[in-house]
Amino acid sequence: MLQVDVLVVGGGFGGTAAARALEQRLAGRSERVLLVASENFLTFTPLLPEAASGTLEPRHAVLPLRQLLPRTELIAGEVVVLDPAARTAVVEDLNHERHDVAYRTLVLSPGSVPQTFPIPGLLEHAVGFKTLADAIWLRNRVLRQLEAAESTDDLRLRRELLTFTFVGGGYAGVEALAELESLARDAVRTYTRIRPSDFRWVLVEATDALLPGLDRRLAGYSERQLRRRGVEVRLSTRMESCEGGVVRLSDPTMAPYPSGTIVWTAGQRPSPLPAQAGLPTDERGRVPVDEWMRVPGRPDVYAVGDAAAVPDPDGGLCPATAQHALRQGRIAGINAAAGLGAGEERPFRYRNRGLAVTLGKHQGTAQVKQLVFTGPLAWWMGRSYHLLMVPGLARRLRIVTDWTLSVVFSRDVSQLGALGRPSSLDSPS
Ligand SMILES: Cc1cc2nc3c(=O)[nH]c(=O)nc-3n(C[C@H](O)[C@H](O)[C@H](O)COP(=O)(O)OP(=O)(O)OC[C@H]3O[C@@H](n4cnc5c(N)ncnc54)[C@H](O)[C@@H]3O)c2cc1C
Repeated sequence: MLQVDVLVVGGGFGGTAAARALEQRLAGRSERVLLVASENFLTFTPLLPEAASGTLEPRHAVLPLRQLLPRTELIAGEVVVLDPAARTAVVEDLNHERHDVAYRTLVLSPGSVPQTFPIPGLLEHAVGFKTLADAIWLRNRVLRQLEAAESTDDLRLRRELLTFTFVGGGYAGVEALAELESLARDAVRTYTRIRPSDFRWVLVEATDALLPGLDRRLAGYSERQLRRRGVEVRLSTRMESCEGGVVRLSDPTMAPYPSGTIVWTAGQRPSPLPAQAGLPTDERGRVPVDEWMRVPGRPDVYAVGDAAAVPDPDGGLCPATAQHALRQGRIAGINAAAGLGAGEERPFRYRNRGLAVTLGKHQGTAQVKQLVFTGPLAWWMGRSYHLLMVPGLARRLRIVTDWTLSVVFSRDVSQLGALGRPSSLDSPS
């Protein structure tokens, strides 16, 4: 049995912020902190759309956990069983070996997973946009579709190959579509047979506005920007099916159409808790906590991030954003350390400072308190804000270098779809 003082579940924004705070507070002491993370890196999701479009080298959108957290023990794997009453857990590592762990304090930050619905064809034909692998896949997909479209004389097939449907107009869908559309627009210049008008980009959103939760002026600006670029924005519309890759929408005036690529960005739900966790959850599956990030009645259990229902100091519950998960994780780390006798406890007092949405090269929207910004200034503000969230000077410099080079030089449009799949060997003849 592995004995640790703090077990942190999840290596995303909340979990790593908690582990960093614990490292700082417990410096020079003997307590052991174990972080269990499904990957050995933190995915910096606000940068994923740019990793997909190639303005950022994908590796620069992630942070290696072992470098970020030098004093935290790390197991790359998953917590598969949790027993908060006995303060024990079972961790499964990458070899599928199981480790029993006993802890004194638990910090839960398992994040969220794409929320799907029983839509015919969805699981077979749509992809998500949540991980670095998704971003790399989508970039290669756009470039692969361009190559395939260039080489066919069948105009219907070409149109199908170059049709991209994004379902869900929150910031993941809007940013991913906007970035990939600008990648395709740049890349198409190097092809002789395809024209920009051969593309079809469709954004489907069930509510009556894009970017739900954001200032209406910004949502309106983003919609106009996308429409000006030829994107079909379908509001108050649902995708009813996509069997055989043919998209059928709830809008009866729109004929079903074949779409070579369908991206599902219609919301997230909290990651399921490990078996036997037995912790309370609200109607959306989030673990309710108080302002100290503690599960009421469980002084040894903290929960943060997308999987937690955290009271917002301005009323209601905090939105599921990286900036909130980061601050909540930090508070959980500070308070967990205080519970071990290091430092003072602190309540969660963070107030949302704003939000930025990038809309492809040099375009964006940003909201800072009551002020709204649009265009290149908002794009620059958003970039600067995300850059400040990235820990470590070396990583920031790499990102700034990528951005600077992307302004000066044209994009690299190599299609590296074979990456991640080693070549197979022929059997001996
Ligand atoms: C494409 C995209 C763009 C976004 N852009 C922005 C943005 O611009 N600004 C913003 O503020 N927010 C943005 N977000 C939202 C932001 O990413 C989330 O709110 C944030 O990641 C939540 O942090 P978290 O720690 O709760 O979860 P995560 O960061 O998702 O981390 C949770 C981790 O826990 C792991 N995990 C789950 N279960 C277990 C288990 N049993 N054992 C071990 N590990 C486990 C998961 O695999 C994951 O790695 C974006 C999200 C997406 C998908």
